Amino acid sequence: DFYEMFNEDAQLAARVLDLALTSRNKGGGEKAPMAGVPAHSAASYIAGLIEKDYKVAICEQLEDAANADGLVERDVIRVITPGTVIESELLSDKENNFLASAVFNNNMFGFAYIDISTGEFYLTEFSASKQEKIWDEINRIQPREIIIDSFFKDNEYYKMARKQHKFVVNEARDINPNRAYSELVEHFKTNSLSGYGCEDKKAGILAAGQILFFLRETQKRTLLHINTLQTYNLNDYMVLDTATRRNLELTTTIRDNKRKGSLLNILDRTVTSMGGRLIKKWINQPLKNRNDINHRLEAVTEMVENYTLLNELRQNIDGIYDLERIMGKITYESANARDLDSLRYSLNKLPSFKDNLDQLTSGLFTELKNDFDSLTDLTDLLEQAIQEEPPVSVREGGLIRDGYNEELDELRESVTVGKDWITGLQKKERKRTGISSLKVGFNKVFGYYIEVTNSNLDKVPEDYTRKQTLSNSERYIIPELKEKEALVLGAEEKINDLEYKLFVDVRSEIGQNVDRIKKTATIISITDVLFSLALTAIEKQFNRPQITDDDLIEITGGRHPVVEDMQEQTFVPNDTYLDYDKNRFILITGPNMSGKSTYMRQVALIVLLAQMGSFIPADTAQIGIVDRIFTRVGASDDLTTGQSTFMVEMNEVANIVHNATHSSLIILDEVGRGTSTYDGLSIAWAVTEYIHDRNTIGARTLFATHYHELTKLEEKLEGLKNYNVLVEEDEKGVHFLHKIVPGSADQSYGIEVARLAGLPDKILINAQRILQQLEAGTGENNENNYPENKIEEDSQLPLFKTEHPVLKKVMQTDLLNMTPMEAMNFLYQIKKEIDEGEERNV
Ligand code: ATP
Repeated sequence: DFYEMFNEDAQLAARVLDLALTSRNKGGGEKAPMAGVPAHSAASYIAGLIEKDYKVAICEQLEDAANADGLVERDVIRVITPGTVIESELLSDKENNFLASAVFNNNMFGFAYIDISTGEFYLTEFSASKQEKIWDEINRIQPREIIIDSFFKDNEYYKMARKQHKFVVNEARDINPNRAYSELVEHFKTNSLSGYGCEDKKAGILAAGQILFFLRETQKRTLLHINTLQTYNLNDYMVLDTATRRNLELTTTIRDNKRKGSLLNILDRTVTSMGGRLIKKWINQPLKNRNDINHRLEAVTEMVENYTLLNELRQNIDGIYDLERIMGKITYESANARDLDSLRYSLNKLPSFKDNLDQLTSGLFTELKNDFDSLTDLTDLLEQAIQEEPPVSVREGGLIRDGYNEELDELRESVTVGKDWITGLQKKERKRTGISSLKVGFNKVFGYYIEVTNSNLDKVPEDYTRKQTLSNSERYIIPELKEKEALVLGAEEKINDLEYKLFVDVRSEIGQNVDRIKKTATIISITDVLFSLALTAIEKQFNRPQITDDDLIEITGGRHPVVEDMQEQTFVPNDTYLDYDKNRFILITGPNMSGKSTYMRQVALIVLLAQMGSFIPADTAQIGIVDRIFTRVGASDDLTTGQSTFMVEMNEVANIVHNATHSSLIILDEVGRGTSTYDGLSIAWAVTEYIHDRNTIGARTLFATHYHELTKLEEKLEGLKNYNVLVEEDEKGVHFLHKIVPGSADQSYGIEVARLAGLPDKILINAQRILQQLEAGTGENNENNYPENKIEEDSQLPLFKTEHPVLKKVMQTDLLNMTPMEAMNFLYQIKKEIDEGEERNV
């Protein structure tokens, strides 16, 4: 009846779960602290511990105490950890709950993850030089628990990940890839892993093996529903690093980590939990292969063009329960009759869903419908066996339908006969005794009885035996009543036992079909996501993009899907033209608050949406596939990881310049703003040249900046184009038109924005005056001690001022056409000139 905890466990649980701490003293020894929870409500207490990152070992008696000889045999039957829960109350419908594993083997990193509530299991590996990818993956899937090699212990990325994410850590076991391999083939009951595409991926296998090993030790059962392992290759997907996912607010907002305000929130119109989890996965893993993308786009197009059918189809899958998680519970033998009832309800929807699906002809839908299994045999089984709306408890009957099992029907019949006799007894006895208020009743302690009020006690016949006295009445029994009672109660007990057995049989029969059910579940989730994308496209006026393998990204009338959705004012659409050639680096200047960030993010989101197979918020778009999107957006301290604003910014820039290829898309929203003006400008300038240069990167880039000096680069860099945001100024002030046009801006209107933000007039007027002085370069040392308004240029190295004769010389030199000897001589000459210059203090 109770789960009990002792000693430190009891003290901890009492504190965490707010339980009464008592003690037990067996055998006269010292008293042991004890706390307990009733078995029937254990789930919520376990949930309380898991939420706080504890692991819970469940220990039970393994034999009936009545039959035990001496000490009752008991053992730990399962260890529940945050990454291995299947209990609905601990899971959220549209989120996966992943357990991940990261290992190092033979110069390769292996990464695997599993959601045991749904049975999804993935593996990948990559070379040791790309270790940041492990952390990008961890950030993508956000595991709740992780098994990690001691190799990573002092790793800086690991330390950062631990600070950023809430996950429970387990040390990896000392096993080698061969051992892991056998663990996997044993689980999947196969001869090799070649069917899973990972036969030779030793590090990946080691990671996946670590997971199975951990599950075997903690779950202590065969996990039938984990019936497949998917090997994936990071190169198959567009890479999105941690900062980019965050900056683009794909699934949560930066500011408060909420779903509302994210791209996911706009796109997700799924009606099943399975679809809800899948659409998140699609957003986080856009594709790179044109055919795969078009495959999805064609399916979405077909739905967009068939609105009526789309609605019908959505209605057909609406309300389908979480088949993946129900199958998890079935494997765990924790599914009750209500779960089977939900399964039946869901399976019943499949035939009409299939009929609708049959009307669709695009490639992806054709594949799905060819694989579709309507599972009618299982629906029939559930229809015949399981009661509608059965009770939660599986031990107290009410689970199995009449007509399913002959023995059960006979037992039920005998109960009915017995109960009818008992009901008839009241009438019979009233007549026999002449007591019109005589009642036949039942309670759990005394069973059936005949009740006579005190005023009628004189009429009670001889053959009544008194059993219980109440204040106003007496309760009696008679031999025939007891006989019938024994029959009824005996049969009811048998019924409960038989129903339980039949229920378990049905459950395991369903469990044997896990492969089929999961396959259908996958089809439902994919269609759900495609419907969701189609519905969003219709409602938000998205259009189909054209996907190409060439360099051009051309968007007309592009919009930011989230800003457009969240704000009341009309969104101003903008065009984009990016290629590998004369338009590969777009430098955007313009006032604060004019829409530069919004514009750049919208381009990134449109490309990402297109590559995930979604329509896009634009009139038209041609998208030359990108391999990665990089963003460096806004300034933010990351105090949790101990990095200053500028350090975060420079880390993001370093990541971009190290990893971007010429097929990437780079979004830079200010570079160098977190430091002094000249340091910042110099860095921004150099970064621009580096990214623009085809020999180093040459990627398609959008860069918004307030360093107007950078616009001069248009004359020097053939692939750089200046754009700015239109502003209208009239007597009422400045109006931002949010329109991106060719050309450069000459001012930032920062003080205007400060006015909009409500800064006091006194500050604004003063700022305006200082600005004028700074711009005129004519400081006036007045009584208020305003700064000398000429910027001290010499505090920073003027890298890009070429007046110095030595610099001039360097700039004019044609290095590529020099011999090493000439270069050496040139260097010698320069050094000499600098030394002489220093002597003369020039
Ligand atoms: P700063 O230079 O200060 O960072 P910014 O130029 O990057 O400013 P955004 O943050 O992109 O400006 O935009 C400011 C606000 O302007 C947005 O929050 C949005 O409300 C509005 N806005 C931006 N773009 C548009 C648009 N195309 N149509 C309508 N409103 C827009």
